[in-house]
Parts: sequence; C-alpha cells; structure tokens
Amino acid sequence: MVVLKFGGTSVASIEKIDRALTIAEAALPEHPVLVSSAMGDTTDHLLDITRSAARGSRDATNESVRVIRETHLNAAGAIDDTSIREACLRDLETSLREIESLATGISLIQECSRRTQDAILAFGELLSTRIIAARAMDRGINTRLVDSRDFMLTDEHFTQASVDIDATYSAIQAHLNDANATLTIAQGFIGRTRSGVTSTLGRGGSDYSAALIGAALHASRIEIWTDVDGIMTTDPRLVPTARTVSHMSYAEAAELAFFGARVVHPSTIQPAVDRNIPVYVRNTNRPEGAGTRISRDTSTPGVRALATKADISVVTIHSSRMLNAYGFLAQIFAVFDRHRISVDLVTTSEVSVSMSVDDERDLSDLRQELGTLGRVEIEQKQAIISLVGQDIWKDSRTVARVFGVLAGIPIRMVSLGNSDVNLSLVVPSRQVSDTVSRLHAEFFN
Ligand code: ADP
Ligand code: ASP
Ligand code: MG
Repeated sequence: MVVLKFGGTSVASIEKIDRALTIAEAALPEHPVLVSSAMGDTTDHLLDITRSAARGSRDATNESVRVIRETHLNAAGAIDDTSIREACLRDLETSLREIESLATGISLIQECSRRTQDAILAFGELLSTRIIAARAMDRGINTRLVDSRDFMLTDEHFTQASVDIDATYSAIQAHLNDANATLTIAQGFIGRTRSGVTSTLGRGGSDYSAALIGAALHASRIEIWTDVDGIMTTDPRLVPTARTVSHMSYAEAAELAFFGARVVHPSTIQPAVDRNIPVYVRNTNRPEGAGTRISRDTSTPGVRALATKADISVVTIHSSRMLNAYGFLAQIFAVFDRHRISVDLVTTSEVSVSMSVDDERDLSDLRQELGTLGRVEIEQKQAIISLVGQDIWKDSRTVARVFGVLAGIPIRMVSLGNSDVNLSLVVPSRQVSDTVSRLHAEFFN
C-alpha cells in the first residue's frame, strides 16, 4: 500500500480535489490511503473564529464562518450525482452548525481553552475529507472514509498533542488493514485522547499523520503532495531561482524541517526512518515532475539546501561562575526545562552562554529566574539560517565560503550542530533576505 498526503493548497477547491483524485486513481492498484489537510486556509479561519469569539466579536466570527461555509458548499455543490451531493451537503451543514454552536459557547464565556480550540480546528480536516470522499464516489471510485480520531491516539496536550505510538500503530492496523479496500480517505492533523476528546497534532501536523499511517501499515512509500516541485534549495518564496533537490537523506530532511522549511513537518520523518520507508515530496500542480525522494541512502557531500527560522530570540547569560565550574550549564537548562522552553542552538564561552529560543513566548519569567545565575541579556527579532547537507563542515572550504560571502552581515551566533549535516547562523531578522540570497547564489547559482 501507499500513503498519499495532500496539503491545504492541494485540496483548496473542487478543481484541486479533482487533480488530487486523479493522482490517487493512478495509484489504486496499490491500495492508497489518502490523507488530507483542511481546504486552503480553513485552519487559519477556524483559528480566527476561536479568537474573535473569545473577544466577543460577533461580526468577525460570522465572517470567518461565512468564508468556510462558502468554500465548502461551493466545492460540494459541484458534485454531479444528486444523491451523493445532497448527502454530502447535509453532512457539511451539520458540521457547520456545530462550529457555530461552539463559537456561540466561546463568545458567551469569552474564553477559549486549548481543548475547545482543538474541537473547532478538527472541523477543517473533517469537512475537507467529507467532500473528497463524496467526489471520489461521484467519480465511481470504491471509497471508504474513515475518522482518524478512531486510531490517532494522543495525550491531553491539546493543540500540540503527542501521539502514543504503539497504541496508534495497533489501532491503525485494526482500522485500516483491509486488503480489499480500494481507496481509503483519512484526515490528517486530528486525533483523540484516551478519554475520547478530540485533539490536534500541531500546525502542519498532517504530514506526521501520513507518516504514522504509512509506518503502521508498512507502506512501500509515502508521498507528500504540495504546491512546489519538492524540497527545494531554499524556500522559493524567498529566492525565486531555488531549484528542486532530487534526493535527500532522512537526516538532511529532518534538519531542514526542524530549522524552518515548512515543506515537511519536523517529526514527519521519524516514523518513516524507523521503518525505512521512502518519502517523496511532489507537486500536485505538476504531477509529472519527480519531486524529491527522501530515503536512508546517504547523499553526496556538500550543501543541499538552506532553511530559515524567523522570529527567534537569543538569550545570553554572563557569569564568571562558569569558569572551571561544573554543573552550571545543567542549572541553566533546568530553568528552561521548568519553563517548558526548548532551546535550538547553544554557544558557550568561558564566561557566557547563548541560546536561541522561539520568540513566540513571553520570556519575562524565564529572564527573572535565569537572573539568579548571572546577568541575562535577551535579543529579539533574530533569525536562524541553516545550511543543510552531508559533511558540510568537515570541508573547511565550505565554512570559508560561507563567511566569505557574508562579509558585512552581523552574525550573532554560529553553530555546527551535533550532526554532520548542519551549519547554522543567527542574524538579525532584517538581514535574512540578504543573507539567504548571498548564500544561495554562492552554493546554487
Ligand atoms: P502544504 O499545505 O502542502 O502542507 P506547506 O505550505 O506546509 O504546504 O509547505 C509548502 C511551502 O513550503 C511552499 O509553498 C514553500 O513556500 C515552503 N517552503 C519552505 N522551504 C522550502 C523548501 N526548502 N523547499 C520547498 N518549499 C519550501
Ligand atoms: N490543517 C492543519 C494546518 O493548517 C494541518 C496541516 O495542514 O498539516 O496546520
Ligand atoms: Mg505543510
């Protein structure tokens, strides 16, 4: 069997859904499981609903519901077969009413818990897959629509739930291992806790759902269908001359995802690595292209791609207590641990240690507690630029070229990573575009 995952832009309209189904049809002899995201920007609109309802802003809430209703009813309205279309429209209407009821509940108490947020966000994938399944039946494909919450089993960390891997693998096998199934359609992103409450796996989580399903069923491959020609040398929105990388190792792809290339979700790779399943990243708008193959094979030495992670902060602690002292770093990390703040890069000197963290959080409590260990400095509006590729820093010429082209750019931190495949720099956010353009020109043009 194969897993085909389609991202939001790949199912954003009935025309896009038809393209996706044409791709799935070609794979029917391989018993595909089609995993879909929500249509277009639906997840963003659902998130807007939770926020505007919590603010008590009725107009904004109604407007977001209206956009979601229009997108979905328009798509379903194009289904040819009357009884399939009407059944689909009825189901969509039921879900849309539930979204409205939840929004009313939120606006009454003017508060939205993470758990309630997940209840609303899950509708994106539930709505999209209902339409895709209806369209597939409309096209005469023998189709089975499943509810991923029946097998994606998570903890209660709503909006960022962790999957219980062993229980999930068994449940996937129990629910999806049907050799006779022609086309199975499942939602990405959503799951359920042990006590039966809907949860989600974090933004971009559909890739992870697809990888878990593929791993549980020992798929021969996992295909991630998106809106670009595979993994490219950098985000094509940043550098239009970026080109497709035909092969990447798992280690390279994982590093690239972790350091900001949202084309694949950071944790997608792990279930596939564990079971040695190749992952392909391909373009729904250009299905004839080969895209990128991610596999266990190591790739040739050299820089493969550049990633950027914007909006990070650099936290520096200056203290002479670091001199010849052991246990000091452990104390620092224990503070981060208590605040549940994860650190991406670390550099140390004799009397200071700098760490990069995601900017989204309020760091004032962290600053206060770290203040007991030394003088704390926090620089915001920074960005990480990562060069990813096999053995890049083993070749001193690569490192020299990096610093050569970046003359004049204030580099705040440098980290060679704990793997052989990453060299990361921290620069001010306003320098990202210039830095990436120069590096891309040096290594890829
Ligand atoms: P989907 O909705 O299919 O999951 P995403 O928006 O999550 O798609 O990811 C695709 C986007 O990732 C592309 O449109 C592109 O702008 C961005 N991207 C960032 N880095 C890269 C890269 N190295 N290669 C390809 N795309 C990238
Ligand atoms: N729909 C979810 C999101 O927008 C999950 C995904 O697309 O992967 O984050
Ligand atoms: Mg994505």
